[in-house]
Amino acid sequence: EHFLARIKAHDGHINALITCTENEALDDARRADAALADGTAGALTGIPLVHKDIFLTEGVRTTCASRMLDNFVAPFDATVVAKLKQAGVVSLGKANMDEFAMGSSNETSYYGASRNPWDAERIAGGSSGGSAAAVAAGFAPLATGTDTGGSVRQPAALTGLTGLKPTYGRCSRWGIVAFASSLDQAGGFARSAEDLALMLGAMAGFDPKDSTSAQQDVPDYLAELAQPLAGIKIGRPREFFAAGLDAATGAAVDAAIEQYRQLGAEIVDISLPNVGLSVPTYYVVAPAEASSNLARFDGVRYGHRADSPANLKDLYSRSRGEGFGREVQRRIMIGAYVLSHGYYDAYYLQAQKVRQLIAADFERAFANVDLIIGPTTPTPAYKLGEKNNDPVTMYLDDIYTVSANLAGLPALSAPCGMVEGLPVGMQLIGPQFAEGRLLAATHAYQ
Ligand code: GLN
Repeated sequence: EHFLARIKAHDGHINALITCTENEALDDARRADAALADGTAGALTGIPLVHKDIFLTEGVRTTCASRMLDNFVAPFDATVVAKLKQAGVVSLGKANMDEFAMGSSNETSYYGASRNPWDAERIAGGSSGGSAAAVAAGFAPLATGTDTGGSVRQPAALTGLTGLKPTYGRCSRWGIVAFASSLDQAGGFARSAEDLALMLGAMAGFDPKDSTSAQQDVPDYLAELAQPLAGIKIGRPREFFAAGLDAATGAAVDAAIEQYRQLGAEIVDISLPNVGLSVPTYYVVAPAEASSNLARFDGVRYGHRADSPANLKDLYSRSRGEGFGREVQRRIMIGAYVLSHGYYDAYYLQAQKVRQLIAADFERAFANVDLIIGPTTPTPAYKLGEKNNDPVTMYLDDIYTVSANLAGLPALSAPCGMVEGLPVGMQLIGPQFAEGRLLAATHAYQ
């Protein structure tokens, strides 16, 4: 009731939620009370949370912040949603996001952008901006998100939260509306690494319904928080501190690095020579996969359908033209172009090769260091509208986050200071399945 009251009081302004499921939440909370009373409660029983509106939820609409899915109600829960439900969490609703998770500012949402609770004239980040805004505004202690190119880490950094993108395959993608299937991964937002450890333990695990989910045991992440920092080697890639990084943001990250040194970690200067190619590589691979994934929204099977079509082609083109916003249409066109005959070798195939080079950079680095540290974003949150009309400038801001997705690695953003009254984040990247190490290193810092 406390959290629902906060939502009612402030979400008219913050716009973190697309759908609030008040009645279902109160019913679930009563069930949680009963579990607490009869001794069957677990650590997450009764903990409120919001789900990014990209996770399918049985009986509750899933819009993906698109007109295309404005009235779509899924007939089943995403695996991550089902697992968290099983752990006893109480969902308060569905969080705002960039349309189909394409964006960095939440401004591509059909329902309008979420606002940053630290300064409502600024972006909450994207694409999981509503999830971040909800936790930062005190609407819920936890939120789910997805991270294809930074969509959990970037909004976490801009709203002062801890946000984790696990290893590709750690959490099931079943029931998550697909954006770029080789990059998409479910993640979470919380106020601390400790809360995230609890949440990830409930979300992760093999799922036979997702052929890319990892057949790997889920460790006790809470127990792993005790891993000592002394003796750990943390790499500081010089490419992450080059031109383009706001000086004050870089200084905040360097102060965190100094704190790690004092806590007993060894800081090592490293190089990731190909990470400078991450943004162009990502913006070929992600739109290519998106153009294929979004082909299913044809106005026939589900989603928005244009009125009185003249013929089949008119039905397709008007349904898609009306249902998708500008950024989604732009991505579909870029994707169709880079996959088309005559351009495939020059763009898509080339991007796949560079993707391997980027992954190899990390592999080489992790032969010598346990973790990598850098900034999450080049600057603190900017003003709503500032980069809205300049997609390329917005794409370039993904410079520090997309490489972990291209390499399939787990990465986390945690608050590391304030710049002109706004939070900024540091990013830790680990080798595959080192979520426990990432959370422990963050916990030691926090
Ligand atoms: N900002 C990136 C993009 O627009 C990442 C989005 C995401 O991780 N879903 O594609």
